[in-house]
Amino acid sequence: MLPAMPNRSGRMLSPARLVFVASSTGLGALALHTAARGELGVAEIAALSVSWYAVATTGVLFPRLEMYGPIISAGPSGSMRVALTFDDGPNPLTTRRVLEALGPTRHRATFFVLGMKARRHPDVLREIHAGGHTLGVHGDRHDRLHSFRMPWTVREEILSAARAVEVATGVRPRFFRPPLGHTSVTTVRGARRAGVTLVSWSSRGYDGMRGRSPEAVVERVERTLTDGAIVMLHDAAEHDDFEPAAVRALPLLLAVLDRRGLTSVGLDALLGAADHTAVREGSDGSRRIFSRRRSSAK
Ligand SMILES: [Zn+2]
Repeated sequence: MLPAMPNRSGRMLSPARLVFVASSTGLGALALHTAARGELGVAEIAALSVSWYAVATTGVLFPRLEMYGPIISAGPSGSMRVALTFDDGPNPLTTRRVLEALGPTRHRATFFVLGMKARRHPDVLREIHAGGHTLGVHGDRHDRLHSFRMPWTVREEILSAARAVEVATGVRPRFFRPPLGHTSVTTVRGARRAGVTLVSWSSRGYDGMRGRSPEAVVERVERTLTDGAIVMLHDAAEHDDFEPAAVRALPLLLAVLDRRGLTSVGLDALLGAADHTAVREGSDGSRRIFSRRRSSAK
């Protein structure tokens, strides 16, 4: 991959961001040029729009490209640590099964919870926290169109989910994984305004699909599991209507980690608070966490 380049504020620009800016500028210039020659018809506008949307959508669907800003998809390698992460809970049945499987082991995980479910099951949140695991937020409801929402709506969704976690456990979540992982320019702005760090993944089990077998989940994760990996799994189904395959796959997955000498830790431990975030005091005394790209981008 091409090296990331620093911008004026010292933040790194990903190659995908450069492609996005260059293609937006290029297509804009082409539109002006075509218009100046009096040739900008409906067909030309459609072709230019399709080209721009193709580039923009690639950035939304593949958050690891970091087209719209900093998103963490893996931790540093070298310490044989990974982060197992679980989305779409809490659910009183399936989340508790995940907690039972992790409990007696040395492995800890991160749970990206939905505010709506968190308010219904604060007791499960307290059990996650008491088990030594990390809590992040996944939005208030599972809004599949959230990447089209305005930054202030994204911020509100994050803050109301974070409030639910804080009311139940006393802990303020610092990490946000958008529903489906879709990340647009407004997602990045909303997350920044809410003071949370955006997190995607480097390995996933596709366990959120009904009918998936635990063996297929393990096989898929094992193939993409590296030192420093962030693994995306589910402790609940989006609509709580089935048990995600990761729940039964978890003991097998933990055995894979043990065999490979890897330990799962919470995201805060994997990423190291001082390493990837900077806390700034606002003039009103509010604390905001700003993510900062690691200098050794990989
Ligand atoms: Zn989800």
